[in-house]
Amino acid sequence: MKELHIETKCIQSGWNPKNGEPRVLPIYQSTTFAYDTAQAMGDLFDLKAAGFFYSRLANPTVDAVEQKINDLEGGVGAMLCSSGQSASLNSVLNIARAGDHVICCSAIYGGTYNLFNKTMREMGIEFEFVAPDITAEELEKCFRPNTRCVFGEALTNPSLTVLDIELFATAAHKHQVPLIVDNTFPTPIHCNPFKFGADIIVHSTSKYMDGHACSLGGVIVDSGNFDWKAAGKYPELTEPDESYHGTVYTEAFGKAAYIIKCRTHLMRDLGTMLSPQNAFLLNLGLETLALRMERHTANALTVAEYLENHPQVSWVNFPGLPGSPYYVRAKKYMPQGTCGVVSFGVKGGREAACRFMENLKIARIVTHVADARTCCLHPASTTHRQLSEAQLKASGVPSDLIRFSVGIEHVHDIIADMEQAFKAL
Ligand SMILES: *Cc1c(COP(=O)(O)O)cnc(C)c1O
Repeated sequence: MKELHIETKCIQSGWNPKNGEPRVLPIYQSTTFAYDTAQAMGDLFDLKAAGFFYSRLANPTVDAVEQKINDLEGGVGAMLCSSGQSASLNSVLNIARAGDHVICCSAIYGGTYNLFNKTMREMGIEFEFVAPDITAEELEKCFRPNTRCVFGEALTNPSLTVLDIELFATAAHKHQVPLIVDNTFPTPIHCNPFKFGADIIVHSTSKYMDGHACSLGGVIVDSGNFDWKAAGKYPELTEPDESYHGTVYTEAFGKAAYIIKCRTHLMRDLGTMLSPQNAFLLNLGLETLALRMERHTANALTVAEYLENHPQVSWVNFPGLPGSPYYVRAKKYMPQGTCGVVSFGVKGGREAACRFMENLKIARIVTHVADARTCCLHPASTTHRQLSEAQLKASGVPSDLIRFSVGIEHVHDIIADMEQAFKAL
């Protein structure tokens, strides 16, 4: 059979029951797995055989969902984590240690920024942040002999900046380091970073992938395309690992060296594994991901067009609008649309923005984004509340900004809700 469409993979990939087994992916609610001999289990510990023995490393329910996401992104292997934060941490920590340098696009999720700029900086890894619209020449100058990877976000939360994946990948590869891309907002339905040169993909599955705001999770997917051996600067992958009796990952696992080491080393030691129950819920979400993304995107475009023509709105940011500075880039990397998140300013500033949100009846105020229910957030009085007016402006989050996450309700109801909220201002 020829390569299946992504809509089909959302439903069919990962779990293939054998004769008489449950049709629906079961929850293997077990920390541990039984073996007949000590030798059989010993071989698992030595990475000589593949199999399950402890759910901190691998679990059949989690494994099936990893296979599905790997199929959606087109990689050689995936590893689920307990949150998006854990996925970002592990993706970098797998190939960088104290004394190393990482180049990161400054337009990234605030939680990732804190993780890199505070916690991982305190661990001794130096992060250098570069502007999303940096030129190839400027980017070129940032690489150092100890640069280990480049990190960027395909479509940023909350500023909706589109990453020039090809530009960042080309620069990274010229210096023989991989590009890691956070693909959370567009999801594999709308963006395929591997096609444009990204080597590793991370996601917060807590957003559209789960889609119902019920389970936290994260995932790392390895394209298998980066040549660790040729790069000559990743001894953790190309030299013997004494904690596994001298296993050399690139020799034992070939193209899957990075993702296998991530599991056998970091998941073994840090233990931020997704639970089988959450993997099951995530899988239910993934089954309808393609359908939901289509509706989120169509609804968001209608909402963005409504806001653009509204007399009480001062500005609208949505990369799907032809007036957006990221329209052309979005068309290249996300030809079928971006996602359901729109940001805009209400005339009357901070106070009007808050009153508008409080007037909404369908859309509720929550910290979360990117699930089936329309929701909104005023970053200046919540996630960014420590910042002064000047700092808010500098970080691209003006005090009148509302982050509006358009759900999959009927768009006429969403707009009617906004209309009555504007009228009541
Ligand atoms: C939410 C988010 C994260 C962090 O994910 P959690 O699951 O909340 O830990 C990382 N990246 C992006 C783009 C996000 O939106």
